[in-house]
Amino acid sequence: MTKPTIAIVGRANVGKSTIFNRIVGERVSIVEDTPGVTRDRIYSSGEWLTHEFNIIDTGGIELGDEPFQEQIRAQAEIAIDEADVIIFMVNGRDGITNEDDFVAKLLFKSNKPVVLGVNKIDNPEMRADIYEFYSLGFGEPFPISGSHGLGIGDLLDEAAKHFPEQHEEDYDDDVIKFSLIGRPNVGKSSLINAILGEERVIVSPVAGTTRDAIDTVYTFENQEYVMIDTAGMRKKGKVYESTERYSVLRALKAIERSNVVLVVIDAEEGIIEQDKKIAGYAHEAGKAIVIVVNKWDTVDKDSKTMKKFEDKIRQNFQFLDYAPIAFVSAKERKRLNTLFPLINMAGENHRKRVQSSTLNEVITDAVAMNPTPTHKGSRLNIFYSTQVAIEPPTFVFFVNDVEMMHFSYQRFLENRIRAAFGFEGTPLHLIARKRN
Ligand code: GDP
Ligand code: GDP
Repeated sequence: MTKPTIAIVGRANVGKSTIFNRIVGERVSIVEDTPGVTRDRIYSSGEWLTHEFNIIDTGGIELGDEPFQEQIRAQAEIAIDEADVIIFMVNGRDGITNEDDFVAKLLFKSNKPVVLGVNKIDNPEMRADIYEFYSLGFGEPFPISGSHGLGIGDLLDEAAKHFPEQHEEDYDDDVIKFSLIGRPNVGKSSLINAILGEERVIVSPVAGTTRDAIDTVYTFENQEYVMIDTAGMRKKGKVYESTERYSVLRALKAIERSNVVLVVIDAEEGIIEQDKKIAGYAHEAGKAIVIVVNKWDTVDKDSKTMKKFEDKIRQNFQFLDYAPIAFVSAKERKRLNTLFPLINMAGENHRKRVQSSTLNEVITDAVAMNPTPTHKGSRLNIFYSTQVAIEPPTFVFFVNDVEMMHFSYQRFLENRIRAAFGFEGTPLHLIARKRN
């Protein structure tokens, strides 16, 4: 399922990021914060009533020191390209400014649904201030207060009315959808071309079915794949193409639709901080991951080189200890055949289910080997465990006291589950829940 996307647009200081944080901030993540992973605060998901959606704060996309008009034009273009519904924010205390008019004209031309939010209406007496905003031409203005959290529900109700009808992705369940992510110049496009150029890879003539239409469907050894092209910035020459945060946004969207994410790093340049950040997105999204070291042709090799490189990766990407590593050269088309089995394995494990009876035996054995922690004379008791979801495999442990399920013990249980069932390539989510 592709979630609908809302983008918030408006001039500086009207309160876009305040509202963005209100909308996404209250979401409680079931995944622990991953050390070393920076969250990007311009793109996130939100929920309102029965709706799940993605939300973009376009104000967070800045273009160096471009003048206001260029900034806002780029932000509006991104919103128009990416969003199903645009929230146009203005400041109720300032009235309509020239800058608001400028934004309004850009949005007007787009034919996208626009919901007008008048912010900083902190109390009911100020509501009279919103009427002048009718003249912007976007219908009823919605009074909101980001600081006080007022009116946001009504605003989201209105936005949700314009969500496109939800449709399932048109691919069968056993198709593996994957994307390649990595910083610029690591060789993503070259890899895409090299993979599609492999012998026995049969590219389907069916064009991509998503809005972005950048999917490539192909078959290799009876397995069907969909390659989601993140590098698919088809609109060359636009001012925003060069902004790093925008490319991050595209990558995040591709990650969201993938089962397996190939995190590409450049063997020649080694691992840099940005690689970790990018890999962190895929990990946080709970996707299966294969680490691909490209440009392996540039490295002088002896019998220990690969092992040494692998050690370096393991050190730098400790949170990806489950991800297999492939060493390839897109340019020389070397070792590409090692990729497919890893993608298949990661994809299969990502949707693997284990039986509760076997799982409980494994957990019982684990507890016998390494007793549960104690606290103030009582001991963590795991009554029952069960796999509640796939993609990624998610396990719930019913316990007497959730607080006593320490991170280190949870980690131990995860390792036992991995040892017993072999979940290579996929993250696992473990959740402790109190049994009533
Ligand atoms: P952005 O530049 O549009 O993202 O605006 P910010 O979210 O950074 O907000 C700009 C300023 O307006 C900050 O000082 C906020 O604290 C303030 N602000 C945001 N929402 C409200 C509101 O509802 N009422 C009032 N009084 N101030 C607000
Ligand atoms: P992207 O920005 O990640 O899509 O990277 P590109 O595919 O555009 O590649 C960036 C540069 O790296 C180009 O000059 C490629 O020719 C080069 N390149 C890509 N793969 C390899 C490789 O396996 N070996 C070498 N030596 N160069 C490569």
